[in-house]
Amino acid sequence: MLLRPDDPHHAPSVASKRLPLRKAAVLFIAAVCLCLCGLLYLQLEQSRSHDLRQAQIASSNLTRAMAQQAEDTFMKADLVLTSLVDWIQIDGFGPPQRPRLQKTFARRVQALNQLHGIFLFDQKGQWVVTSFDNMPRGSGVADREYFKFHQQNVSTVAHIGPAIRSRENGEWIIPVSRRVNDKNGQFQGVLMAGIKMSYFDQFFKSFSIDDNGSMFLGLTDGTLLARRPFIESKIGTSLARSEVFEKFLPRAPSGSAMSTSLVDGVVRLFGYRQLEAYPLVVSAASSKDTILAGWYETAFHSCLIVALVMLGVGVFGWVFIRQVRVGERVEADLRKAQEALELIATHDSLTGLGNRRLFERALDIEFGRGARQQSALSLIMIDIDFFKRYNDTYGHVVGDHCLAQVARSVKNCCHRKADLAVRYGGEEFAVLLPDTDIHGAMTIAEHIRRSVMDKNIKHSGSPTGYVTVSLGCYSFVPTGHDSMEVFIQRADAALYQAKHSGRNRSAVLSMEGGVEVLARSDR
Ligand code: GH3
Ligand code: MG
Ligand code: MG
Repeated sequence: MLLRPDDPHHAPSVASKRLPLRKAAVLFIAAVCLCLCGLLYLQLEQSRSHDLRQAQIASSNLTRAMAQQAEDTFMKADLVLTSLVDWIQIDGFGPPQRPRLQKTFARRVQALNQLHGIFLFDQKGQWVVTSFDNMPRGSGVADREYFKFHQQNVSTVAHIGPAIRSRENGEWIIPVSRRVNDKNGQFQGVLMAGIKMSYFDQFFKSFSIDDNGSMFLGLTDGTLLARRPFIESKIGTSLARSEVFEKFLPRAPSGSAMSTSLVDGVVRLFGYRQLEAYPLVVSAASSKDTILAGWYETAFHSCLIVALVMLGVGVFGWVFIRQVRVGERVEADLRKAQEALELIATHDSLTGLGNRRLFERALDIEFGRGARQQSALSLIMIDIDFFKRYNDTYGHVVGDHCLAQVARSVKNCCHRKADLAVRYGGEEFAVLLPDTDIHGAMTIAEHIRRSVMDKNIKHSGSPTGYVTVSLGCYSFVPTGHDSMEVFIQRADAALYQAKHSGRNRSAVLSMEGGVEVLARSDR
């Protein structure tokens, strides 16, 4: 008989209370790795938004400076035009006035660095006076956007048109123009000041922006006037479909936003600002990759460090878990050895039944349980009849075999989990029956007796010719102050009585102390 972990008379195992250390270690390592990843994410996210915020501030400052410069440039040209238009409208621009006008135009152009030239056109768009010494030849400017604008609009405010190539010398210019009226407000011509695109180029170049950065000046309708880097084919094209013009400008006259450039497809942080006095928009942009170049490097290093730390934690965890596993295996072996020792210490090797030590431990437990639950506790003492003779007749080895067979019968008659059959000593056995009254004990005693007889073990020294047993039963309800010795003695007394009455029978000792002998059952 082997001890089961759920044996009610077995000492409780420490192993069942063990913490799942391996699981805890895995969870801890996973938590550490998760925390590291979380911290890395937070730190990278923070530094990324910091870098983007700094870039936003820088582009906002840059666009403010650009807007100021553009406004100054156009305002100075506009002031020149305003004063000249006033003069022309009063004095006219007939042949007598033209030499003086030409000189004035030339002086103004000399005074203002940004001016390419000043041009006066008549009603048909033909050159009348220019700031240049030689009057250009050709079909005039009736086809130009700014000329048509003034021809069709009575407004006398300055008009800024799309960038054009000067018909004077082919230079890129941005035309600022005003309508010239006669005294009755009738259209007489157009006065135009051409602003050099190179002036903006110079200005744009004075700022240090990254290789992928860009700056531009455009009309509010999206027409591109000047740009750094300069791409000639893009001058005059429309940026109206870009996010700056389509999304951001309608929301706020200035700001910044990440957007993909329509000109070259690069993702940039655009700072933009619409001028208050003129229908112009300036924008400066830094490429996202350049803004975040430092961040990418930091992110790479941080990820590398965290990956190494996680690798270290993982390796440490692996070693630790392996050690835990080895420890667990050693502990399991120890537990098995302990269980084996416990088995040896509490069991009889010949019969496989529990021994006296286990019996006494069980008695102690069942005395307490019986007293608590006020339930009857029964004991059957069993002794093989004429066993000395059996040994003498068949020898000790056969005697041992007989003992084992009787033990099996005893064991097989104990059906309840709490029932305990032990080898009490020599050829004596004891069966402890918790929660069983005297009638139950007697029933089991008779089962055992019949079971031994049914084995038909030949015994020439016995009057029956077969091995038989005598049994003594005692039952009582523990009070909590009971003596084991007395309990065993009473069952022994019943056994004695069974022997005395002829053997191969069961006897019971009544609770009052009287003895009742049961008749032997017929085979
Ligand atoms: P009774 O009917 O009155 O019990 O007679 P008995 O011969 O059985 O009584 P007794 O106690 O005098 O004899 C017990 C014998 O059991 C003595 C011994 O030889 C035998 N015995 C005790 N332990 C063992 C054992 O482990 N193996 C064997 N083979 N015999 C044992
Ligand atoms: Mg005996
Ligand atoms: Mg005997």
